[in-house]
Amino acid sequence: MPRDADCIFCKIVAREIPSSAVFETETVLAFLDVGPLAEGHLLVIPKQHYTTLVDVPSEDCTRLAEALPRLGSALMAVTSAEGFNVLQNNGKVAGQVVDHVHFHLIPRRSGDGLGYRWKPGTYPKERTEQLVLSYRASIDAQ
Ligand code: 5GP
Ligand code: ZN
Repeated sequence: MPRDADCIFCKIVAREIPSSAVFETETVLAFLDVGPLAEGHLLVIPKQHYTTLVDVPSEDCTRLAEALPRLGSALMAVTSAEGFNVLQNNGKVAGQVVDHVHFHLIPRRSGDGLGYRWKPGTYPKERTEQLVLSYRASIDAQ
């Protein structure tokens, strides 16, 4: 299985360092985040080493996507959370510290004080049209 010798999550997959694993398949591993934002905070990873989401092949992506609702449902039951966030950071600028792609599942409760700055902007109409055309062309070229 492709791995990065210096990657902490690859070492967790290989059981070279311990983790509190809660779910494992041939392709996916989920375990407790060692520094939880809330009790029950989970990390969900592909067992193979990919750096960011855009590096993940579709088969592994499918397996990850299938795991998320199951794990989210378990998280709600186990933690009695009122909701949860799925957070997925790509690149240092976006807050990614561990360079092995991962999804955070973070239990939420009213008044928990978690959250993020969310400052919505607006588009001039022509910019919307330019962006839509650029997106369509980029997606079609993949
Ligand atoms: P990122 O900022 O890259 O999206 O999140 C990395 C997450 O990995 C952090 O929430 C951090 O607490 C968690 N983490 C880092 N090292 C370990 C570890 O050795 N074991 C576990 N279980 N989680 C880790
Ligand atoms: Zn890795």
